[in-house]
Amino acid sequence: MKSPAVIGILGGTFNPLHLGHLRMAEELADAVGLEQVRFMPAAHPPHRAEPEVSSAHRVAMVELGIAGNPRFMLDTRELERPGHSYTIDSLLSLRKELGDRVSISWLLGSDAFMGLSSWHRWQELLDYCHLVVAYRPGPAEIHADLSPELRSLLGKRQTHDSARLHQKPAGHIYLQDITALDISATHIRATLEQGLSVRYLLPDNVLAYINQHKLYRDNA
Ligand code: ATP
Repeated sequence: MKSPAVIGILGGTFNPLHLGHLRMAEELADAVGLEQVRFMPAAHPPHRAEPEVSSAHRVAMVELGIAGNPRFMLDTRELERPGHSYTIDSLLSLRKELGDRVSISWLLGSDAFMGLSSWHRWQELLDYCHLVVAYRPGPAEIHADLSPELRSLLGKRQTHDSARLHQKPAGHIYLQDITALDISATHIRATLEQGLSVRYLLPDNVLAYINQHKLYRDNA
């Protein structure tokens, strides 16, 4: 099978997958012209406590949520690797698989971008991918809130022309305003724990899965 020349990766805990993730991936795919977006669930998120729901459940929910979208696929490489899920390791593994010429865009919300300098070997990330940052709702005045080191990185690497992401395999930062959907997995988990409805915040089939397996209830 021919590999696409321009792909996007959305990493996350997906605990659970929700419409904020799906809409962000869809809008960034359109804005940048991505042929494929791979949803890559993290095994051991380095920045947070271990998710209390198993990887198998999180993967099942991603599979259900992306079903029927021909551009979306699941990539489980972080779950197959022992230890922490570092983005740099996933990029090295993707490069091994896809080669050096494919354009890889790492998709992330602006909240995640603000914390980029805490990521393992963050200064090397742009050697292997572009960063495509979606503005998320909230006080996300990206430029105002950025640390000096990220502001300097943005100054050197930002492009306003998404076509540039097709011309090089890696190295640019591109910011894209997206429809603000103030949905978070944290809020969904908290709402379910209170026994309240989370309908319309995530796909119906993902909600059916949560109910069927009694996830995010006390003593789940
Ligand atoms: P949690 O509430 O558990 O922290 P989350 O809802 O932020 O989870 P993650 O799996 O941590 O979801 O997020 C994965 C990626 O998706 C991150 O880059 C994050 O910025 C982005 N993202 C999450 N929710 C949204 C949203 N509503 N709109 C746009 N991007 C989002």
